[in-house]
Amino acid sequence: MQIKSETWLAATNQRWKVVVAVCGGLATLVSFAWFVSSLDDDGALGRTLAAFAGSGSFTVAWTLSAVRCPSCGHRPVWRLLRTERADAWVARLLTLERCPSCGWSDTQFR
Ligand SMILES: [Zn+2]
Repeated sequence: MQIKSETWLAATNQRWKVVVAVCGGLATLVSFAWFVSSLDDDGALGRTLAAFAGSGSFTVAWTLSAVRCPSCGHRPVWRLLRTERADAWVARLLTLERCPSCGWSDTQFR
């Protein structure tokens, strides 16, 4: 996945936050598979469930809260989840050119 350099995410130096969210999603998938594979092992079940719940909770919380507008503090992910189609909100986030709340973009300061 490559995020274009002229996007709002790039202008606000927040591309790394999307990378952390993707890594969290992958960790959640791996921990879910680990949890499912341990269903017959009572000794490991608690640990694998904790890993799955912990990584999933972290990833959801991070994804919803990490990306913020430096101008108004708006967190656009929740807005995009509510207003875009389920298969389109990630692409929309990655291609934002302005803050969807206040319209801030780095071109205002060039
Ligand atoms: Zn804003």
